[in-house]
Amino acid sequence: MKILVLNAGSSSQKSCLYDVPDDRLPQQPPDPLWEAQIDWAPTVAEVKVKANGQELKQSIAYESRSPVMEQILNMLWSGATQVIADPSAIQVVGHRVVHGGQDYHDSVRVTAEVKAAIDRLSDLAPAHNPVNLEGIQAIEAILGDVPQVAVFDTAFHARIPDSAAIYPIPYAWSERGIRRYGFHGTSHRYCAQKTAQILGKDLKDLKIVTCHLGNGCSLAAIQGGRSVHTTMGFTPLDGLMMGSRSGSIDPSILLYMLREEGYTAEQLDQELNQASGLLGVSGVSNDMRLVTQAAEQGNPRAKLALEIYIHRLHALMGSIVAILNGIDALVFTAGVGENAADIRARACENFAYMGLKLDLEKNSSRPRNQVISTEDSTVEVLVIHTQEDWAIAQECWEILQEV
Ligand code: AMP
Repeated sequence: MKILVLNAGSSSQKSCLYDVPDDRLPQQPPDPLWEAQIDWAPTVAEVKVKANGQELKQSIAYESRSPVMEQILNMLWSGATQVIADPSAIQVVGHRVVHGGQDYHDSVRVTAEVKAAIDRLSDLAPAHNPVNLEGIQAIEAILGDVPQVAVFDTAFHARIPDSAAIYPIPYAWSERGIRRYGFHGTSHRYCAQKTAQILGKDLKDLKIVTCHLGNGCSLAAIQGGRSVHTTMGFTPLDGLMMGSRSGSIDPSILLYMLREEGYTAEQLDQELNQASGLLGVSGVSNDMRLVTQAAEQGNPRAKLALEIYIHRLHALMGSIVAILNGIDALVFTAGVGENAADIRARACENFAYMGLKLDLEKNSSRPRNQVISTEDSTVEVLVIHTQEDWAIAQECWEILQEV
């Protein structure tokens, strides 16, 4: 079965084509047959396409995104990156959709109703849901009535208990849909499943904390395979300190900036999402590698940024371990979680009190999909390479079996 996955963000879009057997899903993620990355600079799309052992790069001037997508998808069935005879070889298209609100607890086949819901939920995810919908419509225009599947970033957290989901605000606000939704769900779910597979245990028997530390950062508490708490909230701005997002701050800071400093809502939105976090404190970058480098060279604000990052990680890891009343496994994933051994080591340091012991040699040996704690550690610590695109392909495969 040929499965096309579109993972569209506000400023970039990844697409890949998987070929999987019709009758079973492989245990290990296969390499995609074809991959494309589009970075949407203001007027020019920077495109990379990888297939047949080749990588093609080009810059395409654009006014709207759909014609560029059409041009890129054409490269699936023509030219040096051709991997299929014609578009009809694609049996299903899966989309990462950021916000599914309270209605979508699972991935769904795209219908007119689902498209209307994605559109309606654009209020809650203005930078993402409209581009996700645009992707669905572009596929309709290019590939006709091929089955499409929406895989929601919020779905995995949609059943967290009310005690975790409802904010202590006037209840009427909650009735208007202001609640914790949580994000990165596809990654948290994938990592939990992979953890059970690596440990050779049943997911139902495990209490897991997954730490998705990338440019965006969130933790999830997973019990018996279900998310019971997560640190992102109503929006992806809540929780941990991130690359350029603040994470949780005292809400009165916003009121103060509005009243006393004359800020507008748009300025607050921009500065809390794009000029805060590692970037805001260090003044260096949102990239952990550059901030670490600057700290090593003695930059005091880069050092401070790292100290705050770790402090906040400890604080939320501690609270999420308490919510689960102890854990069996702690998982690190995404750009920082998979690559920054020193951040993992420091994150784990403060959990030695509960018998968690990191094997420092394994931790610093570029681990991937393996356990990095010692034999006698009370908690298994793992590094998992998150594969959201493969997780989306798996969802598509499963949904097509139901038809
Ligand atoms: P992601 O959002 O998962 O793609 O993660 C992107 C972030 O991962 C980058 O902004 C970097 O901060 C971080 N990252 C990637 N490689 C490394 C590395 N070797 N060491 C530290 N951080 C890294």
